[in-house]
Amino acid sequence: PLQTTFISQSYTIKSVSRYVSTLILGEHEGGHVKQSSYSAITAARSISEQNSISLLLAGSGPSIHKAASHAASFHPSISQVLVADTDKLSHPLAEAWAELVHLVQKKGGYSHIIAPSNSFGKNVLPRAAALLDVSPITDVNDISGSQVYVRPIYAGNALCTVRYTGADPCMLTIRPTSFPVLHISSDSKWDAAPVSQVDLSTYSEDTLGKSRYLKHTSQDTERPDLGSARVVVTGGRALKSAENFRLLEKLAEKLGAAVGATRAAVDAGFVPNELQVGQTGKIVAPELYMAFGVSGAIQHLAGMRDSKVIVAVNKDADSPIFQVADYGLVADLFDVIPQLLEKLPQK
Ligand code: FAD
Repeated sequence: PLQTTFISQSYTIKSVSRYVSTLILGEHEGGHVKQSSYSAITAARSISEQNSISLLLAGSGPSIHKAASHAASFHPSISQVLVADTDKLSHPLAEAWAELVHLVQKKGGYSHIIAPSNSFGKNVLPRAAALLDVSPITDVNDISGSQVYVRPIYAGNALCTVRYTGADPCMLTIRPTSFPVLHISSDSKWDAAPVSQVDLSTYSEDTLGKSRYLKHTSQDTERPDLGSARVVVTGGRALKSAENFRLLEKLAEKLGAAVGATRAAVDAGFVPNELQVGQTGKIVAPELYMAFGVSGAIQHLAGMRDSKVIVAVNKDADSPIFQVADYGLVADLFDVIPQLLEKLPQK
């Protein structure tokens, strides 16, 4: 009889569904949470619709509180916003953030921790995973339940489905382009999520000081952000100079597009590194991707092959970019771009 009772007890325990709670590592700028962090919320909802989602923001000054209060009423699936208000976290250094994640996880006991797969998430999450002694799963682009994830391998040429069997928390970086931001009708009403301060009294500073923030440089542009733009126009080595990239910039202005570049164009110094699209650059999936003088190396395709419509202009009809293009034009880009500029109406 004792054994029977034991079996039936263990059956009862197995049938209880797993409680899912997720901590999102959020980025903010100018008083707003970045779209990539909201994409992480979409990913958390794919794990479970009953997911209890906490968004963690860190930094100092009024902008973090503004971002937190926006986020608290952004979507009803956000259960709480946690604010770590300290100037030690004013800049997203991996050591400082990893220590914070460690501290928040010890208190919150989340089943999942998610960050966007961008320079912030790729920097912070593996270090935080090491402190928590778990193996992270990176670059996830699809989720089937709470433990099964799909991620690209071989520069996006194959998809690998993995089941997480490790201890909690399961830590993920997700591709923002695969998890569109959830929007909700402006008529909907719900109570804003509570905003709480993280208790930093036990925040250890031992690991700080291993890296130091020097400066942040980025292009001051009115154009949309490359990672979330609806249209991207990209130039390759064939543009030949920074001066010629101005042609692409004019086209981008007419189309309301972001400018991208291949690594060859970045390495040649035509444009800054932040415009690089590809395996070692940004991953984009706009509605329209226009590639001018881009050969279509697999490392470049890894960053743009999920674009909805791909247009390629290349002098060489055998160029691999034509294998992924929906529309291809075998032509000289220096003839095509001026004609496009002439024909397109001013935006
Ligand atoms: P090229 O390969 O030189 O191609 C230029 C193209 O322009 C050719 O197809 C040519 O026919 C065409 N052309 C020339 N003149 C004209 C003209 N007047 N009009 C029209 N067409 C013209 N690359 C990336 O882009 N992103 C990455 O993230 C990336 N990561 C990498 C990571 C690793 C580990 C490695 C090894 C490589 C990586 N690369 C990456 C580099 C990649 O392999 C290619 O070298 C690079 O993408 C080529 O850039 P490109 O197409 O501009 O130049």
